[in-house]
Amino acid sequence: MPAARPLTRRVPWAGALPAVRTLGDPGLRTRAKEIDDFSGIPELAQVMVEVMHQHGGAGLAAPQIGVALRLIAVRVPGSDGGDGTSAIVIANPQASPSGEAAAGEEGCLSLPGVFLDVVRPASAEVSGLSPEGAASEFAAGGTLARVIQHEIDHLDGILITDRVPAPAAWQALWRAGLLGAGRR
Ligand SMILES: [Zn+2]
Repeated sequence: MPAARPLTRRVPWAGALPAVRTLGDPGLRTRAKEIDDFSGIPELAQVMVEVMHQHGGAGLAAPQIGVALRLIAVRVPGSDGGDGTSAIVIANPQASPSGEAAAGEEGCLSLPGVFLDVVRPASAEVSGLSPEGAASEFAAGGTLARVIQHEIDHLDGILITDRVPAPAAWQALWRAGLLGAGRR
């Protein structure tokens, strides 16, 4: 697993943190590009970690802050001593599913108020690069495997509402006041 990044509160970008894009933003429905030039990626990774913690998210994908690159941040519970304020960031992540499929409740910072039971493989072999471009590979299970798969979906323009039967998605969007937000 890549080294965990501490929450620093020292944002290398000037000004406020970028806003999280929500349903209806076309960037959430676009396939993000592979990263081949890593200049500026460590700084972007730190911004993503800050935004994720600011909103209490379990993970964040770059397209959610308007950056169409294959970069994800995932919270690592307890890795900094127990308060859950560390994260790993993976560039060009890939997950090879393993294990049985399991249902679990998921939310999404881009779909505020929407919670859905999503069926995913319970574990995965994850590979990718650190924000500095170093190769990394590890086995993920449990919540970590679920969140990584959720964030990789974002890189392909897929949202949790696409992973459940349509009536369940409509009902959750309606309850959250988002029904119609994704229409063009
Ligand atoms: Zn999400």
